[in-house]
Amino acid sequence: MAQSIQAIRGMNDLLPEDTSVWQKVEKVLRQTVASYGYSEMRMPIVEHTNLFSRAIGEVTDVVEKEMYTFEDRSGDSLSLRPEGTAGCVRAALEHSLIYNQEQRLWYMGPMFRHERPQKGRYRQFHQLGVEVFGLEGPDIDAEIIALTHDLWCKLGITDQLCLELNTLGNSEERKIYKENLVKFLEAHFEDLDEDSKRRTHTNPLRVLDSKDEKVKEILKDAPALYDFLGEESKAHFENLQKLLTSLGIKFTINPRLVRGLDYYNLTVFEWTTTALGAQGTVCGGGRYDGLVEQLGGKATKAVGFGLGLERLILLLTTLQKVAPSSPVDIFVCGMGENIESHQLALCAQMRSAFADCGVLNHCGGGNFKRLLKHADKVQAKVALILGEQELQNNTVMVKNLATGEQEEVSRQADVLTSYVAKILNK
Ligand code: ATP
Ligand code: MG
Repeated sequence: MAQSIQAIRGMNDLLPEDTSVWQKVEKVLRQTVASYGYSEMRMPIVEHTNLFSRAIGEVTDVVEKEMYTFEDRSGDSLSLRPEGTAGCVRAALEHSLIYNQEQRLWYMGPMFRHERPQKGRYRQFHQLGVEVFGLEGPDIDAEIIALTHDLWCKLGITDQLCLELNTLGNSEERKIYKENLVKFLEAHFEDLDEDSKRRTHTNPLRVLDSKDEKVKEILKDAPALYDFLGEESKAHFENLQKLLTSLGIKFTINPRLVRGLDYYNLTVFEWTTTALGAQGTVCGGGRYDGLVEQLGGKATKAVGFGLGLERLILLLTTLQKVAPSSPVDIFVCGMGENIESHQLALCAQMRSAFADCGVLNHCGGGNFKRLLKHADKVQAKVALILGEQELQNNTVMVKNLATGEQEEVSRQADVLTSYVAKILNK
């Protein structure tokens, strides 16, 4: 026998019982962004590599270590998208969506990062992304945070997620702060771990969210970014906090929150949970006012977030907030010669009467016991059974699979439909 080929490590198949859960969650996500008046974008999964190195930053984990980069047949360097913001900005610029106008956009789809696969961390994962362009006030920051908070409410997990907030100021403020931080880190250089040593001179802010215990201890005495902010940045942050409080959204301020990508300024936030172990960040985002210009557009205010679907769904299934379900509601079967055409006609009748129900036709015949076993297996709610007697009487045997009750019901369209509707609670 030939050796079987397996999926790539960290890239998951979603099987029928997974997809039924994913579809329910995706429905809530779609309904929520729609209820805020946001429009969907669909960007390609592959982009020119330099889009990501320019947008995300050369010295970030994502660009340095995690990208799937390859040369295509024309010799161009392309990469599978590791996140959606860069591609969304590229597309918005390319099609003049954000030239002197505001846009509230969202997208959903797979992202790719070559990381060490573990629970909640995969090489292909999915994000819901929201990006808003052309608005600068803290009110829009509050709006997208409120949108995520609405999601948790609808999914029943508000009490499982904590909102952490920080501000990174503007680029001038950050520059002066970085100089001070580097001086501080240099003074403690010998006690830093290898990653932090390297980052001290490439991306010092990232040292702030080091997971190394010794580094964490050292950082307790590090200068705080907040002390380097001017009035405007402070006012933005304070107004955001007031708006969130007025919406009843609780938060904690985490001065160490800097986020992994280079492009953030002012507001940054993360929603974290303790229910998933180390991979506890379900959603993260913030303001990125410099990115559009950095990618060749006219300076444009921007704010957004990325929400990891695998982590969200892991949380929901761990807490038993969603369960797999069957796509079949109505099971149609029959016994006897030339019954197939009657079954097919009955299926068609049911599908036009119940547009949002799954109608499964049993193929291949069999005895009564076998038919009902199949109906059970697909978890149908009702079985419609045709036999010679039913054909003669122009009726159908209708079996409520939850109660076991069955009755011979007239085939007449309205009679049959309303009988089945009652069982389905339609
Ligand atoms: P982390 O600190 O966990 O590596 P990140 O800061 O790299 O996360 P972002 O780039 O902000 O993550 O992406 C937004 C969200 O996408 C994360 O909060 C997380 O829910 C999800 N995510 C990121 N990387 C992965 C991954 N490799 N597998 C699954 N989900 C991921
Ligand atoms: Mg990461």
